[in-house]
Amino acid sequence: MKRIAIFPGSFDPITLGHESIVRRALPLFDEVIIAIGENTQKKCMFPLDRRIKWIEDTFQGTENVRVETYNLLTVDYCKQRNAKYIIRGLRNSIDFQYEQNIALINNELNADIETVFLLTEPRYTSINSSFIREIVNFGGEASRFLPEGIRADFEKYIKEL
Ligand code: ADP
Repeated sequence: MKRIAIFPGSFDPITLGHESIVRRALPLFDEVIIAIGENTQKKCMFPLDRRIKWIEDTFQGTENVRVETYNLLTVDYCKQRNAKYIIRGLRNSIDFQYEQNIALINNELNADIETVFLLTEPRYTSINSSFIREIVNFGGEASRFLPEGIRADFEKYIKEL
């Protein structure tokens, strides 16, 4: 059976940290689905179609990665996709505390699904989508924290805001 993993998040926007987690997860699984959750309470800065496009552009030409959106509980979505693994990235102990609770709840909901944690590469520890949004809000240069292939489009988008 194919080992399918879901990497859920809001990706508002995708960063070098997210990209690195996906690339490091790829050898571990047959397929990684980057899944943008639409059902969270979070209000996003970037529209869904842009967030999808930036992820697609980042992984253009990379096999076994695709982007989807979902509107249900993550474990139910995993079941629907036949995915037995949820990937989460960890930067520090604050991430761990937050992620541990989510993983425990998901395990209560469906014990067949394993959450797999990958520690961030040290150079990406401080990269955070919310800091990027903050930099954009104050007119700073944020694109250096984004995957290289999408920087030009991101800058263009920001200018047109
Ligand atoms: P959420 O909206 O669920 O917090 P995000 O889009 O912010 O989702 O992040 C999705 C996943 O990527 C989470 O597991 C998060 O911990 C991880 N992540 C975010 N930034 C980094 C980073 N710089 N390095 C490693 N993992 C990261």
